[in-house]
Amino acid sequence: MAEDPNDWETATRLIRGGLDRSPHGETAEPIYLTQSFVYDSPESADARFAGTEPGFIYARYGNPTVKMFEDRLALLEGAEACRAAASGMAAVQLAISGLVRAGDHIVSGKALFGSCRWILNNWAPRFGVETTLVHAPDIAAWKAAVRPNTKLFFLETPANPLLEVCDIAAICAIAREIGAKVVVDNVFATPIFQSPLKLGADLVVYSATKHIDGQGRVLGGALLGDLAVIEENFKDLIRHTGPSLSPFNAWVLFKGLETLDLRVRRQTETAGVLADLIGDHAKVGAVRYPGRADHPQAEIIARQMSGAGTVVAFDLGSRDAAFRFLNALELVDISNNLGDAKSMATHPNTTTHRSMTEEQRLEIGLTEGWVRLSVGLEGPKDLARDLSRALDAA
Ligand SMILES: *Cc1c(COP(=O)(O)O)cnc(C)c1O
Repeated sequence: MAEDPNDWETATRLIRGGLDRSPHGETAEPIYLTQSFVYDSPESADARFAGTEPGFIYARYGNPTVKMFEDRLALLEGAEACRAAASGMAAVQLAISGLVRAGDHIVSGKALFGSCRWILNNWAPRFGVETTLVHAPDIAAWKAAVRPNTKLFFLETPANPLLEVCDIAAICAIAREIGAKVVVDNVFATPIFQSPLKLGADLVVYSATKHIDGQGRVLGGALLGDLAVIEENFKDLIRHTGPSLSPFNAWVLFKGLETLDLRVRRQTETAGVLADLIGDHAKVGAVRYPGRADHPQAEIIARQMSGAGTVVAFDLGSRDAAFRFLNALELVDISNNLGDAKSMATHPNTTTHRSMTEEQRLEIGLTEGWVRLSVGLEGPKDLARDLSRALDAA
């Protein structure tokens, strides 16, 4: 009996999924660093362009190494299809521009990665697309925001930077009633801990730059969903606008997937320990971590996530205290990246979320004292010592 990859455990999917060996039988996957492809005959070229003969045409449309990455990630996500993009933002931009037209309306959660919010607030209006931003955990707010021309719901959960969580299944149910599509940015949960497609979402987007690489090397992104949805809305858009992932980056990300499950689980285990240590410290006003019972949406988290993730946020009360904390760190880096093997801390107000107005930040509860910590793979005791020392200094 031939192995069916759909029957494999996650660990096997991540090691064996998508593998397309060349005739040389190499053990490590090949990098096909090629832009274009040659044909045996003009008849063959004709048939490839007509779509009647399988095979690659041009790397803007597809490349064998990129396809290996797409196939492995689709198998992990349990999605029919995956299309890679050059960055997480290229994937988000693709998802939004493929699903709306001038005159359409979008409803989105307020708490979003800064660039996602920029696309909705500053870019989409140029093309006649309006967005209503809602407090995502409030289901009634999604319903109230719907207009006759609402075509898309966009959400991020847990959201950056304060780990606010919303109910994917309940939001998808509202979207289904009105015939709108749902796109979920699943970066913080990772494909290991949350499967939005199974909860009713039409598309899931990733910044592969984060946990999928996980070692600070390359940018990448991905868009996953049903084959029919992807073909209908994105096939031509990708071909003609070129948000394509480089084969080299695809190879790095493909190898990153091999260890994704191990890394994310280990980082999450450490994050849980550190979230409690941070929460117990006298200098900390509030800690936000999806694994803690005091998370405002703990009940939704128990239903829709199988793990709490690698990011912790906490409030030190003022910008000065947050900066004293960051300056006292010796092991943890000051960096705005996340999901990396190296632990990193950032002050969102002055970095990732500085393009928001003060008022917009206050709407999502982001005051001056918040710090976001991405927990890496270092020894938990070393991290605990570094954080305790820096918290004392705050
Ligand atoms: C980083 C990030 C993105 C953007 O990804 P890039 O690869 O940096 O373009 C989008 N959404 C979320 C939630 C992110 O954390």
